[in-house]
Amino acid sequence: MSELRWHPFLEEWVVTATHRQDRTYHPADEHCPLCPTVPGGPMTEAPFQDYDLIVFENRFPALQLDPAEPGVLGTALSPVCPSEGVCEVVCYSSRHDATLASLPLLQTRKLVRVWRDRTLSLGALDEVAYVFVFENRGKEVGVTLSHPHGQIYGFPFVPSVPSRTLAAEDDHWKRTGRSLLDDWLEEETAAETRIVARHSEFVTVCPVFARYPYESWIVPTGPWTSLADLGPEGLDSLAEAVHSISQAYERLFDAPLPLMMALHQAPTDGVARPWTRLRVEFLPLRRTREKLKYLAGVESAAGNFLTDTLPEECAVRLRSALASR
Ligand SMILES: [Zn+2]
Repeated sequence: MSELRWHPFLEEWVVTATHRQDRTYHPADEHCPLCPTVPGGPMTEAPFQDYDLIVFENRFPALQLDPAEPGVLGTALSPVCPSEGVCEVVCYSSRHDATLASLPLLQTRKLVRVWRDRTLSLGALDEVAYVFVFENRGKEVGVTLSHPHGQIYGFPFVPSVPSRTLAAEDDHWKRTGRSLLDDWLEEETAAETRIVARHSEFVTVCPVFARYPYESWIVPTGPWTSLADLGPEGLDSLAEAVHSISQAYERLFDAPLPLMMALHQAPTDGVARPWTRLRVEFLPLRRTREKLKYLAGVESAAGNFLTDTLPEECAVRLRSALASR
């Protein structure tokens, strides 16, 4: 059963997806459903002997184009809707032990082009208002398949975090006639201390307001609102930025770093928002080599982050991890 239920106190949708309880859970490496199919072996999601990069619909989708009718009736305060939308999986290497950091730069260039292609295709659907590209990395984040993969959700609504961000950007635009992200990047550039890396069309920064340890944002230096706005040079620059920060994270603790990567961009609902900006956020979940960051009472229930790492210091460590290659 999968449906959207309205939370009237938080004014946001909750997606129920009970069938996902049955999804493949930490299979042994030889039964990996994302590895290429071995001749004579069981069919995997990749019915080929090898592949470069593949995208396919999630077998256990939280959102789908032809959803079942909801199992409960909505009320005046809590409407319930079918969970319309799309959930896709992106496998960016046929190698079971690859990571975003270990990919050759050429493969990352292909990957950002796949993100753009899927943004255009899913964004063109009437059912999709927002294309969200993300990766959960590490069993600490709840990943059930260790084969490297990212995901793309075509949401039928603009999700809560981008919705709040868009409201703040809209407000700033109305007050100043400027883009909030452009103005913030100007402040970070002037301060200099939290800049991790500069690329031709993107900058990587540990934001002054970082909520997660070693959190970084890849943001554009041009007025790009979504992947759709990027040409070949912009895509290559984004690929370089993703490639280098992924490598820095890999070297930081000399161990795989559990993290979430999230790409935010303009909604695809047909409304022009020239003041919003594309960005890629990396949200790591490790404070030190041994200690994980948990989202506990204050973060999860009160909604505000307590952080014991300073972005200024995190930026220094990430810059030296980058320089150590
Ligand atoms: Zn695999």
